[in-house]
Amino acid sequence: MKIVHAKSELRAHVTAARKAGLTVGFVPTMGYLHQGHLSLVEESKKHTDYQVMSIFVNRIQFNDPNDFAAYPVDLERDFALAREAGVDLVFVPDEGEMYTDSLTFVDVGALTKNLCGAHRPGHFRGVFTVVSKLFNIVSPDVSVFGQKDIQQAVSIEKMAADLDFPVRIIISPTLRESDGLAMSSRNKRLSADERERALAISRSLKAAEKLIASGERTSGIITAAMKKIIDESRPTKIDYISAVRYTDLDYVERIDTKSVIAAAVYYGDTRLIDNMIVDTAGGKAKCVY
Ligand code: AMP
Repeated sequence: MKIVHAKSELRAHVTAARKAGLTVGFVPTMGYLHQGHLSLVEESKKHTDYQVMSIFVNRIQFNDPNDFAAYPVDLERDFALAREAGVDLVFVPDEGEMYTDSLTFVDVGALTKNLCGAHRPGHFRGVFTVVSKLFNIVSPDVSVFGQKDIQQAVSIEKMAADLDFPVRIIISPTLRESDGLAMSSRNKRLSADERERALAISRSLKAAEKLIASGERTSGIITAAMKKIIDESRPTKIDYISAVRYTDLDYVERIDTKSVIAAAVYYGDTRLIDNMIVDTAGGKAKCVY
């Protein structure tokens, strides 16, 4: 596995891979890898021959400087996990390599007005800007994103279409710990007590699934049931528990079309997100979370 820090080096390796007839898959990350990240590489390997992963903690997407400062980093461990997962090349730029005197930013309008977009000003603009740059640097055939960050994944799919990036976006399911907690680099920051309480988020999604299976379609009733479960876990703050349409991410009063039910909840200083995609087409509801 090659580890490169410069864009020029990365381009040279990717160009050589392409010359050898290989297709290129790309998984962007902020590091502190877990099985969720590695499952994206697994997915990418199904579609492409040469696997590129980036590890870059992108300061401009952090609306909270304390969150940036506390973001966990362990590059040696990341390299070992990436190597084991079959990554061919890891791109680890420093901030100077990615941004010098940039004046250009990318936004995806309406798709970011709700959910996390409503609570993290500037966050998505930072994400789309760095992902656009990475797409131009890596020029992948396929890039894989996690359902866990559903607003990000759906918006990047739209961004790639709108800006004619010649890349296929794949959205891959959320990997969970055995007790249901969605894997996240931020989980490391939870105390044992906070981690236990945070299980309420995935439990609330399970409860929503049950309600939907029993025929309930009113968003307000479903999200109220989720809120009751999350409230009992004494969260520090709830940013949102919402139902939106897939893929325009506008609020829906009823879950009559393909929808996303999503929550963002703080335990201590740690903000956790989770979601479930609900498809009610044909009358029978299918939930993926
Ligand atoms: P991050 O390093 O948190 O920026 O995440 C990098 C990529 O991994 C994004 O596409 C995330 O959606 C994805 N990801 C994060 N957590 C999970 C998870 N538990 N399961 C699957 N993908 C994930």
